[in-house]
Amino acid sequence: ARHAPLTLVVVGASGDLAKKKTFPAIFSLFYHDLLPDDFVVYGFARREMSDEEFREMILGTLTCRVIDGAKCAERMDAFLPRCFYHKGTYHDPATFASLDEAIVANFESRLTESVANRLFYLAVPPSVFAPSAEGVNDSARAKGNGWTRVVVEKPFGRDSASYATLRSALGAVLSEDEIYRIDHYCGKELVQNLMTLRFANAVFEPIWNRHHVESVQIVFKEPFGVEGRAGYFDNIGIVRDIMQNHLLQVFALLAMEPPVSLHAEDIRNEKVKLLRSVLPLAADDFALGQYAATADGKPGYTEDDGVPAGSRCPTFASCVLKVNNARWAGVPILIKAGKALDERVAEVRVQFKPVAGDIFGGRPSRALANNELVIRVQPDEAIYMRIVSKVPGLTSRMEEARLNLFYRHAWEESKDIPDAYERLILDVIQGEKSLFIRDDEVEIAWDLFTPALTEMEAEDSSVVPEAYPYGSAGPANSDMLAEKHGVRWSERA
Ligand code: NAP
Repeated sequence: ARHAPLTLVVVGASGDLAKKKTFPAIFSLFYHDLLPDDFVVYGFARREMSDEEFREMILGTLTCRVIDGAKCAERMDAFLPRCFYHKGTYHDPATFASLDEAIVANFESRLTESVANRLFYLAVPPSVFAPSAEGVNDSARAKGNGWTRVVVEKPFGRDSASYATLRSALGAVLSEDEIYRIDHYCGKELVQNLMTLRFANAVFEPIWNRHHVESVQIVFKEPFGVEGRAGYFDNIGIVRDIMQNHLLQVFALLAMEPPVSLHAEDIRNEKVKLLRSVLPLAADDFALGQYAATADGKPGYTEDDGVPAGSRCPTFASCVLKVNNARWAGVPILIKAGKALDERVAEVRVQFKPVAGDIFGGRPSRALANNELVIRVQPDEAIYMRIVSKVPGLTSRMEEARLNLFYRHAWEESKDIPDAYERLILDVIQGEKSLFIRDDEVEIAWDLFTPALTEMEAEDSSVVPEAYPYGSAGPANSDMLAEKHGVRWSERA
């Protein structure tokens, strides 16, 4: 029950993610009265910190949508006394036992209710996912009928084999029911809206297929490089960091068949079914890039501290998914992700086929391109359709126009869109799994990408990232990849 007492333990409480996302999201849930009446927050990490210092850390890194105003200060005064810090070592079961004792002594022993739940958020590097989960299982599970849920952050391994190892290590100590694999893209407002858009409107589904769709483009662009996180990134690369998880999730929701119901297993069954229909990817389904220094002083990737000389790590990748099913066969699904590009955007573009039997004498310019449905995930959330329209007046001139659903114009609520982590942590508390990634889903995602990654990362691989200037639109090989499939990357606003 939502109201059962709850302990939220953030393992790796001193880290970047915990400070930037986890604690702000937990506070925002409290601010909006969405946490149980009885709850405590425990921070767990190796370094020395007093409860007071821990509270100051939370206060000093508050980045959520509620950061000022009298109510915020008042809620914070009520929140911080419920936050405690516990020093421990992830590999040491004894420290999870002492955490357990602290939770009981400080909180659970004082409750009148018999059931108390525990949520563990693993905000630690992947090397300590398994030891932390073991510590939870051995010594810190909820007592009696309370539930124990463990949130695991990406990366879920780095290929099929390492995922299999992680899966069995976690599976040995936690049931699938207890594991919540987070992909924060699934918590984004527009990504959550994909199913509503497709299945709550009559107009899209009939044309959402190979007979009407020419191509699908899923694009993620960042205007900055790895600044400061090169050590982490060089080992991972853009394909693992963005494509194999975030963009593949967007693709799955966009292209799956209608689920039987909104139940989590029904939705995830459809995602898995779709991913199983995607043809295996090979290296030549990809175009890779790496950003390079510019004359005006922007640094190249290899100049960043922490990047080994001669690194071939891709900071840009595009690839083409081919889906072998009745709905999508023959429709190229283009995916692109890159750092240090010309803009910040995450969006989906569904490009429709041209009008058949055109009575307007052909399309005189590219301005009258095919219809396109754009779903802009960030920034400035929007859904719009590019249509051709007659220009008003005594003219027969046609121009392209937009049917617009700009969130900031349409809804007052859009000023206050919750961070993805708020939605997701609330779902964990409520036991709602539809926005979390199931074990077989991750497995299939890795099976899709692993052969191509192995091929591209081989010492003698012929696929070398093409240099592109920091702040540009990306490497030319990406345009050539699209062309090979008879498509152009959409450049329309
Ligand atoms: P982080 O800051 O590097 O690490 C979190 C905490 O773990 C550190 O404060 C440190 O705490 C402990 N730690 C660091 N290295 C360790 C090691 N080698 N062995 C044991 N403990 C270690 O990581 P993060 O950026 O917060 O990310 C946490 C997890 O979330 C990772 O799996 C990451 O991939 C994922 N993630 C992060 C982001 C993000 O924006 N940062 C986004 C998506 C996913 P103590 O030394 O005090 O114990």
